[in-house]
Amino acid sequence: MAESSDAAPLERDVAAVEPAPAGGPREGESSPPEARSGMDSSPAKILVVEDHTATRRFLADNLLADGYELFEAASAADGRHRIETDFPDLAIVDLGLPDGDGLDLLRAVRETDRISSRIDPDLPVMLLTGRASELDRVRGFRNGADDYLVKPFSYPELVGRIDALLRRSRRRPNLGRLRVGQLEVDPLSRRVLVRGQPVSLSKKEFALLRALAAEPTRVFTREELLRGVWGFRTIGVTRTLDSHAFRLRKKLNAAGDGFVINVWGVGYRLVDGRVE
Ligand code: CA
Repeated sequence: MAESSDAAPLERDVAAVEPAPAGGPREGESSPPEARSGMDSSPAKILVVEDHTATRRFLADNLLADGYELFEAASAADGRHRIETDFPDLAIVDLGLPDGDGLDLLRAVRETDRISSRIDPDLPVMLLTGRASELDRVRGFRNGADDYLVKPFSYPELVGRIDALLRRSRRRPNLGRLRVGQLEVDPLSRRVLVRGQPVSLSKKEFALLRALAAEPTRVFTREELLRGVWGFRTIGVTRTLDSHAFRLRKKLNAAGDGFVINVWGVGYRLVDGRVE
């Protein structure tokens, strides 16, 4: 619906931006810059959700030339599908999409159930929009946007913001490989090792472990874990949490270590080593 309202000025402004020359001499271009890479040495994956073809192509072509891996979507539904199937490291989302508002897509990502959905609710999202009012920006951030760029935008500024978001998201404690004593958790491959031996966990058990392992000595309240692991919709279902924690403890401790401690009346924490 908003396509017509923001397309015309955008096309002109975007076209006026000098496209970055492929392989051009931006600093750190020769070796893959750290900021350009995702979790490991592979290029960061960026999803562009934008119905205006010229803008989408402009972004995709230039970001691709700058070393990112690109996915494109022209509608909110397609964007959501891409997030579920391509696991981007960052999404740039236009607000005016033919089948809905980019804010709805953003909300759907943020409210996603970490377990039954394949969407990462913490996916870095940058809103791209022709709506420049303070109220619009506030609405964007209130709905969970990590950044907000108003059209017309400068391409170098966009890249700077992308790199800043990627740097920040890589520092998230739950993304890197976690090690707690003899326990190793790899969020990307979803592998769990105790003393080097793989432990098979259900999806929910894994998510619970990942949450606990992010800060192994901290006591997480039940509410925190339910909210973070099960999502907003199941708050209050503590019995579910307790049964998963019980099974998780049993599986981890089959290897002889004492992991996942129930702090009576409060919640859980993961500790390293044998606990009597
Ligand atoms: Ca649009």
